[in-house]
Amino acid sequence: MKTTQEFIESLRELKRELYVLGEKVENTTEHPILRPSLNALAKTYEMAHEPRYTELFVRPGLDGQEINCFTSLHHSTQDLLNKVKALRILGQETGTCFQRCVGWDALNALESTTFEMDQALGTTYHGRFMDYLRYVQQNDLVCNGAMTDVKGDRSLRPSQQADPDMFLRVVERRPNGIVVRGAKAHQTGAVFSHDIIVMPTLSMRAEDEDYAVAFAIPSDAEGIVHILGRQSCDTRRLEGSRLDVGNATFGGHEALVIFNDVFVPSERVFMDGEWPFSRILVERFAGYHRQSYGGCKVGVGDVLIGAAATATEYAGVARASHVRRKLAEMIHLNETLYACGLGCSVAGTPMPSGTFLVDLLLANVCKQNVTRFPYEIARLAEDLAGGLMVTLPSEKDLNHAEIGPLVEKYLRGVADIPTADRMRILRLLENLTLGTAAVSYRTESMHGAGSPEAQVIMIGRLSDLEAKKALAKRLAGISL
Ligand code: SF4
Ligand code: FE
Repeated sequence: MKTTQEFIESLRELKRELYVLGEKVENTTEHPILRPSLNALAKTYEMAHEPRYTELFVRPGLDGQEINCFTSLHHSTQDLLNKVKALRILGQETGTCFQRCVGWDALNALESTTFEMDQALGTTYHGRFMDYLRYVQQNDLVCNGAMTDVKGDRSLRPSQQADPDMFLRVVERRPNGIVVRGAKAHQTGAVFSHDIIVMPTLSMRAEDEDYAVAFAIPSDAEGIVHILGRQSCDTRRLEGSRLDVGNATFGGHEALVIFNDVFVPSERVFMDGEWPFSRILVERFAGYHRQSYGGCKVGVGDVLIGAAATATEYAGVARASHVRRKLAEMIHLNETLYACGLGCSVAGTPMPSGTFLVDLLLANVCKQNVTRFPYEIARLAEDLAGGLMVTLPSEKDLNHAEIGPLVEKYLRGVADIPTADRMRILRLLENLTLGTAAVSYRTESMHGAGSPEAQVIMIGRLSDLEAKKALAKRLAGISL
């Protein structure tokens, strides 16, 4: 298992083509906009070396060695439960997205899908995939799970698009590999991932055969371009104020990742044209990732609830009955999400390959709640924070020789709390609800791991409505 320092060193060796705010960036690990994101990812390495967290963050690898859980397969419902618990802790520690779960979920989805593909079709993907997994475990890599295509005109299938590159596809097949072209959007953690694992974004049909492709590739392979996505308030990180950014240490990032005719050697190709299995791969990856949110979003929710409670103390209103009721409501919503994450884990089942899959219906219910509850928790946090959260002066004003004492005097709440601390907690609330961390806590809760309608479709498909009708009819005395 890599240490935090070894992880950061390993990234320095990558020669990614990366653009941030229109400029090419060579030194990714020290960039002020990106560094908090690196810190959050590094936390996944740090935790595995903390003796008190060994049970959650360290697992046996394919060769029996100790590995970081983020490169592991799930062999039991206990493993699935431990995953949710680990993600909650990381959310609590970082207050943001720590970016490593997407790759973990991709590895697990590919393991069982390639196994079943080989059984059904006589292909040889599973062995290749297991060799790759061994390499990932031995080197303790961060894998970026890349699923979401840019999609172009949403009313058209991949093969019907005016521009055929709107979904990533195979443009050439060579004896020793394939050449791919396309782009993946919203790629969480892409800049600090060693490898990218590409999967199809939706269930493909026969005419979309060239789009039914899955593979792994180093993130600095020739032809790959990363363009960093903007986040609300991102350039505050360039101003040098720790107070104004709310969470100065941790953050997340997303990137648009473009594949300009990238060559992928055969040994890293895990699906090439087997379109009937694209649906299975998509559903499993989405299932695991919808489970993930029952952990990470809950941990970040814990931070948000704690920040809101602290803000009410600093304002002197903590004992008001409506404040307590709102905090209890936030906790209720947050723990409901956790219950969903645990529930889909404990109801998980083994697949033909022997690894465990979450209960897909419950994982989709989990994510459907995630599309709603963080918004309500954030709304209540803003209610408790008061308007000062968005009208506060800057740290420079606070430290100003002339106006600083005025800011200090007039923005104080209860007498024994320094104004600077009140400002710090309000800025953290702003960061989580409106700033850089809101990308993952709010909008990603809506659209990450599939937008709400994707869960509605899955819930409809996976729940047996006819059986429920039969139950009702029998009790009502209606002959079936
Ligand atoms: Fe992991 Fe959550 Fe970030 Fe997704 S949003 S990568 S599950 S921390
Ligand atoms: Fe996500």
